Amino acid sequence: MSTDCLFCRIVAGDVPATVVHETPTTLAFRDINPVAPTHVLVVPRSHYENAAALAAGEPATAADLLTSARAVAEAEGLDGYRLVFNTGADAGQTVFHAHLHVIGGTTMGWPA
Ligand code: 5GP
Repeated sequence: MSTDCLFCRIVAGDVPATVVHETPTTLAFRDINPVAPTHVLVVPRSHYENAAALAAGEPATAADLLTSARAVAEAEGLDGYRLVFNTGADAGQTVFHAHLHVIGGTTMGWPA
């Protein structure tokens, strides 16, 4: 855990968040600034800077994020949803602890 990392502090319970799902390796909580009726972030409990670093360092946990995202989508009753890993500043990543956005509850177009 990094005390400088916001999502490590949420995982540790030091910063409040609305938790919707948890497993031994992941935590899912509502995004503070939702872009859709459902906007949940699924994070690994261990600290990795982004999804690529997580996949390299703890591939089983990277897969756990997808399983948790599915559980969140089911619990939220989503018919369709979008999963997003912003990876790196050029992609718009602002919090450098790997996280999977689960976005749904509305009709979305593509490209985003
Ligand atoms: P990124 O842009 O890094 O892919 O996504 C970071 C997400 O974290 C953003 O959607 C932002 O709204 C969310 N976020 C930032 N600070 C907090 C916070 O303190 N609590 C929660 N729950 N979400 C946060």
